[in-house]
Amino acid sequence: MPDLTIPKEKFGIYVHWPFCAAKCPYCDFNSHVRREPIDEARFVSGYLKELDYTHNLAPNRRVASVFFGGGTPSLMSGHAVGAIIDKIADLWGYENNAEISLEANPTSIDSQNFAAYKVAGVNRISIGVQAMNDQDLRKLGRQHSVDEAKAAIKLAQREFDRISFDLIYARPQQTLQQWMDELKQAIELGTDHLSLYQLTIESGTRFADLYKLGKIIMPDDDHARNLYDATQDICAEYGLYNYEISNYAKAGEECRHNLLYWRYDEYAAVGAGAHSRLRSSNDPSIRYARVDQRQPEKWLETVEVQGHAFIDVEELTPSAQAIEYLLMCLRLREGVSLKRYAHLSGEALSVPNIVKMVEADLLIHDVEAQRICTTEEGLRLTDYIIGELLG
Ligand code: SF4
Repeated sequence: MPDLTIPKEKFGIYVHWPFCAAKCPYCDFNSHVRREPIDEARFVSGYLKELDYTHNLAPNRRVASVFFGGGTPSLMSGHAVGAIIDKIADLWGYENNAEISLEANPTSIDSQNFAAYKVAGVNRISIGVQAMNDQDLRKLGRQHSVDEAKAAIKLAQREFDRISFDLIYARPQQTLQQWMDELKQAIELGTDHLSLYQLTIESGTRFADLYKLGKIIMPDDDHARNLYDATQDICAEYGLYNYEISNYAKAGEECRHNLLYWRYDEYAAVGAGAHSRLRSSNDPSIRYARVDQRQPEKWLETVEVQGHAFIDVEELTPSAQAIEYLLMCLRLREGVSLKRYAHLSGEALSVPNIVKMVEADLLIHDVEAQRICTTEEGLRLTDYIIGELLG
């Protein structure tokens, strides 16, 4: 008999460092380049203040995971990272074996900080390798070379038990064979976790302008599909299973912080442009979406005056929460608990709609476990499936 109890939500904290050494031409993240040195100490005291404020909103939790993302958090000193990790310990305390991840760029300067991050309490590092040839790294606007990426991985392996790399594929002119060779080469450097993203053209980026001018030719759907299928096969060959649309891991090495988002657990977030989902302390069925001021200096000035820079706070209705849960959780191989969906939404998902998607070979319905998950085909069509399920 499967266990049908809804697991207790985990609680994680995201810390956004919004600065980068240069802006990559494909990137639409909230990342900024500054000519003048960043006043790190002032920013750190801003994070500590916003954490204090957040603790008042969401006390009495234990932290299961922290994720330093960006931007480029590996531009932060170990001292700054440590001050934030310690503050979180003082305010909430950590669960046993809490995961503390930090995203790092593999330039030689960033890698010099790895030992200090370990001392600060980081126990998982995610390295933005992105490509395994120098020509494409330059086209992607990256500041590192393949040799630097390899050296960074070696250094990271010395300091951390858990490391992950990011690679971008389906790049202009990338052939199937080139990608297969590149992916194998990357995996053989040694990792238990990979994030593999297809390049997409995001509006407002330099690549979007070049694309409009016809200076970037993106792979057509068939080629992109072949690249994706090869990715699945190669990762499976190396024992890395596709636990989320773009994420591959050995069993037990999944990124616990990202799982917390995809399982629609609770998370706080601090820093410019960060988004959080916190439950009300008075009524845990109420969940708030909060968005921080995007512009880093404005974020800092606002936090210094009022203790936080949340510019948008929205109470999510039960149905909005359930839709977010579906959107996030269908990305995962493990799929959606129909019981949790009904608990969030107040009503069950339509069985005829589920059956329709099962008949279309896009969903698998485990009636006994009360779960649905996508088929291989369905994993690529989650937006369509959600539309049909809710229609
Ligand atoms: S380093 Fe990362 S966050 Fe910064 S501009 Fe490049 S892709 Fe964006």
